[in-house]
Formats: sequence, structure tokens, C-alpha cells
Amino acid sequence: MIEQKKTSKWNRFKQYLLDIFFPRHVKCIFCGGELNERAHNDCCEKCLTNLPFIKNFCARCGEPMSDYSAGVCLRCKRKNYDFVCARSVFEYTNKIVACVHKYKYSGQKFLCEPMAAFLTEYLARWDISPDIVTSVPMFKKKEKARGYNQAKILAEIVAKNFNLPYLDLTIKVKDNPSQTTLHFKERQDNVKDVFDINKAHKAEMSGKTILLIDDVYTTGATASGVSSVLKKNGAKQIYVLTLAHAVINDEI
Ligand SMILES: [Zn+2]
Ligand SMILES: [Zn+2]
Repeated sequence: MIEQKKTSKWNRFKQYLLDIFFPRHVKCIFCGGELNERAHNDCCEKCLTNLPFIKNFCARCGEPMSDYSAGVCLRCKRKNYDFVCARSVFEYTNKIVACVHKYKYSGQKFLCEPMAAFLTEYLARWDISPDIVTSVPMFKKKEKARGYNQAKILAEIVAKNFNLPYLDLTIKVKDNPSQTTLHFKERQDNVKDVFDINKAHKAEMSGKTILLIDDVYTTGATASGVSSVLKKNGAKQIYVLTLAHAVINDEI
């Protein structure tokens, strides 16, 4: 009996170690279920079919829309951005929110890899030809505290998969308050003068088409703020690709 207890304890410990060192290959990243060989991007088949892929969207900002014939959403009819258009793989709901929170706030950096695989699949179908891939920068102190910038990890993997150069084209010079509770106008003011050019790569972006990657798109204020800096410094055009699009119902 004692022997049996010891064995099960040892097995649990072995599983614990496996989970630490090989989490992606052992379990579905969403439900924790066992994966088989056919698993796609570390997801079990059940989770994969239930993921909130965006099918119909605003031609400008990528917001999910039920009425596809509408073309652009109400916000885009009134707002202007410094990027050509934005696209997102998923709606920012349930499983995706949980996953983003895990890699953002719980140090589960390995989740960026399967998420970057979804971005890669999206870009392969998207009819654009970027010259350079970049990401939304983080304020240095914040990046140091987290240990990484998740947007940069996603962007670097995507760039590598397409054999494109990844460059940190901008820097974040101000630690602006979190955007999550702000409305569009406040968000726009909130990102004003927050980003600056990374002088080390300024020359390289001249006349280039840039793909800007971030993990979550909300009002477009952040993506537009970074795009504005890129354009002012000679970039030809900017496309935005994010993992998820948060649908907000504030004033437009
Ligand atoms: Zn699953
Ligand atoms: Zn829109």
C-alpha cells in the first residue's frame, strides 16, 4: 500500500516535470486535454472547432460584423487611422482572453508559439506583401518586469516563418496608463507622443511596406499611434495584424 502510494506520488511528480518542460506537446493549450498526432497548433480538435475565428469583418479595422455587405463599421466611417487596414484572427472572447492573460500576466510565454502559428496561417492567406515585420513596443521598465514583450515574440516568429526581417522600428517613450478602461477619444489622447522612432532602423523603413503585429486590437488608437510614427519617418504603408479583436461598445 505504501509502495503504491509512493509510485503514484512519483508519477504525479513526473507528470509535473513533464508539464513544466513539455507543456505544449502534452496537453491542449485551451482545455488541458490530451493531444493526438493530428493536433493543430497545440489545440485539440474540439477546442479548435470552437475557437472564435473572425469570418465577416470591417474592411478597414477588421472588427467582426454580422452584416458583411456593410463594408466598413460605424467607427471607421468616422475615424481615420494611419494604417491601411487591420485584421485579426480571433474575436477577443472566452478561450482567447484566457490564453492572452496566461502569456501576458502568468509568464506562460510558450503560448506565444501556437498563437504565432495562427497569425502565420492568417498572413499566408492575406493578400499583402510586407517588406518588414515589427511589433507594438512596450515601455522598457514594463518589458523588464514581465521579462518579454509578447507582441514582439509573436512578430518575430511570424517574420521568421516568412523569411522577412523583424525590426524594432519604434520605441515606447512614455508609460501611458492602461487603455482598457478608456474610450476612443481618451485612447487617442493617451497614445499621443507615447511612441517614437528607433533611430537605429530609421533608414531601413524608407519607402517600405510594414506589417505591424500586436496581440489585441481594441480601438485602433495604439496601432494608429505607432503607424503615425512609422509614416512620419518614411514608411510607405502599414498593415496591422493582431491575434484578437476586442469588440467594444463605447461611443464611436
Ligand atoms: Zn482542447
Ligand atoms: Zn471598422
